[in-house]
Amino acid sequence: MTTKGDYYEILGVKKDAGKDEIKKAYRKLALKYHPDKNKEAGAEDKFKEISEAYGVLSDEKKRAQYDRFGHAGIDSRYSQEDIFKNINVDDIFGDLGFGGGGGFGSIFDIFFGGGMGGGRRRAKKGPRRGADLQYRLNITLEQAARGFEAKFSVKRHEPCPTCSGSGAKPGTSPKSCPSCKGSGQIQSARKTPFGAFTTVSTCSTCKGEGDVIDVPCEKCRGTGIHSKTEKISLKIPPGVDTGTHLRVSGKGDAGEKGGPAGDLYVVINVKHHPVFERHGNDIYMERDISFPQAALGSKVEVPTLTGDVKLKVPAGTQPGTVFRLRGKGIKSLHGRGTGDQQVRVRVKVPKKMSQEEKILIERLREIEGSKDKGKGIFSQVDQKLKDKFK
Ligand SMILES: [Zn+2]
Ligand SMILES: [Zn+2]
Repeated sequence: MTTKGDYYEILGVKKDAGKDEIKKAYRKLALKYHPDKNKEAGAEDKFKEISEAYGVLSDEKKRAQYDRFGHAGIDSRYSQEDIFKNINVDDIFGDLGFGGGGGFGSIFDIFFGGGMGGGRRRAKKGPRRGADLQYRLNITLEQAARGFEAKFSVKRHEPCPTCSGSGAKPGTSPKSCPSCKGSGQIQSARKTPFGAFTTVSTCSTCKGEGDVIDVPCEKCRGTGIHSKTEKISLKIPPGVDTGTHLRVSGKGDAGEKGGPAGDLYVVINVKHHPVFERHGNDIYMERDISFPQAALGSKVEVPTLTGDVKLKVPAGTQPGTVFRLRGKGIKSLHGRGTGDQQVRVRVKVPKKMSQEEKILIERLREIEGSKDKGKGIFSQVDQKLKDKFK
């Protein structure tokens, strides 16, 4: 790896250069270093270097990112492909009047899609890895807290058992494509702003495979693929949350032409719980208690993820007090202990009362009333009014 130079220096512009100035500088350098014209050693690397610099500096977002974080900010976010795809050939060189002035696409297409230069496209499709699959698994909060063995079915591709994935009828085999002679690519001359050169495109007869099937397998109609529902058994560790991804290696779609299978990604969704709310690894709930329970203290039953427990409510507990049940929350997925359960108490005011309850509360009011005499808020107001109109 060589260290990259400064993008502004590469294009020979100042840090505060405007869009047009940057474009002009790039155009000049591109015409000089394009490997189709410049046969000096290193011209192609130079062309890529200036194109990368231009791809970044011509895009406001990428330029801002580069100004703040330098190369690290670009390399961690964008591939070379992302950068080259920004560079519109028609926009920069369209006025040179080649090929009716349009339709060249991006630098990426000419340079890397077209088989020129160093980014030559791989001829003939070889073994290909199968596609990754995704499965959304709905689980309960209890299951997320404790972990469990999940069982579910996914539909995935397997190589056709009849033709072993070749797509050709058993006893026959695919033959070399006559259009591209097995290369999977067709070459054609194309005019571009840099002059005429050969572009390579995918063969339409064999779709780049390099071979064609004369007699397709009847079972899979020549696709070589067999769709199958497979039962998956997966250990869900304690602590997973909505959005957690679990990878099941090799359970995606089967690869083609002997390529490896893709992976299956299981995405967890934890269903809403009627009692508990989750906050990280803590769980939270509200519990109603009566006024006598709050005033006199009591032991009340509260549910937890692992069954009911008794919670001691001390005498004089105020509404809204939160009690913490240590270790009754959710085990950390990363093995860093277990969360707590928080219980917030609400003091309930009864809507209906029996005659006996009413009598007792009336009695309570009388006692409170006698305690408050002369210092209640209303008596204070009364006193003020009396003072005012004296
Ligand atoms: Zn072909
Ligand atoms: Zn088949």
